[in-house]
Amino acid sequence: MSEPLFDRAADLLRTSKHPIAFTGAGISAESGISTFRASEEGLWSKWSPEELATPWGFKNDRELVWGWYVWRLAKGMSALPNAGHDALAMLEQRWPNFAVITQNVDELHERAGSKRIAHLHGLASAFRCFSCAAPATFDVPLDAADNPQLRMPPPACLHCGDSIRPGVVWFGEGLPQDQWNQADDWAMQCDLMLVIGTSGIVQPAASLVDVARRNGAKIILIDPSVTSHATLADVHLREAAGVALPKLLQRL
Ligand code: NAD
Ligand code: ZN
Repeated sequence: MSEPLFDRAADLLRTSKHPIAFTGAGISAESGISTFRASEEGLWSKWSPEELATPWGFKNDRELVWGWYVWRLAKGMSALPNAGHDALAMLEQRWPNFAVITQNVDELHERAGSKRIAHLHGLASAFRCFSCAAPATFDVPLDAADNPQLRMPPPACLHCGDSIRPGVVWFGEGLPQDQWNQADDWAMQCDLMLVIGTSGIVQPAASLVDVARRNGAKIILIDPSVTSHATLADVHLREAAGVALPKLLQRL
């Protein structure tokens, strides 16, 4: 990987007054949590999005969908933040207005120490009722991490008796308005956006990179692949986040 590109990225970051990060599944890949599309290992190559990540899929087979999320939650809980998550938490120490807009539904950014986070697609562990939306609690069995084929009936809502669902945004559902407004504000205010580990396919999340660009922000892309954001990037560091971010920080 060309070192001058890292120097150029570090120059941009060093002179920035309000940098932020926009992250996707790729930043958690080195923590052992699969991305959705990037490889043969990608989750969608094994199960269809319609089956696992839509309200229709949940209604159709609640044990399949709930079991799959319990497996992913257990995997997430046994995973550790990696050097990429840690680097973003360190940037918040240096720039108190630094913020992370994430599409991830794991909690690895907060576990690494980031405080200013917008969760565009919810948090898997923010359980609620499928019908009445009442918040719910559920103790994730950690041994579910070893069982990707887990089928499990979802618990019943204490208020209406319908099923408890994970707190993620499924395809066809709206984004949480408060999180979206916060993310949109940060994208408009920032003067530099680190775009890390996202294919840029899922909308409206991906449009935040255009928002930042239109408002004059520099874009540093960190992704081994050429994604749909590549044409907007001032610098593209084609390395894994857990390698590229520490290298960038060393140069600040
Ligand atoms: P995506 O799977 O569409 O794209 C992942 C991107 O990460 C790819 O461009 C890939 O090249 C890149 N990548 C892979 N390994 C990387 C690494 N080590 N460092 C940097 N980049 C790496 O993911 P997306 O764009 O986030 O969209 C998927 C949707 O699925 C999101 O909406 C998200 O809610 C959800 N999702 C979340 C998680 C999670 O919470 N950890 C995991 C999978 C999917
Ligand atoms: Zn209910």
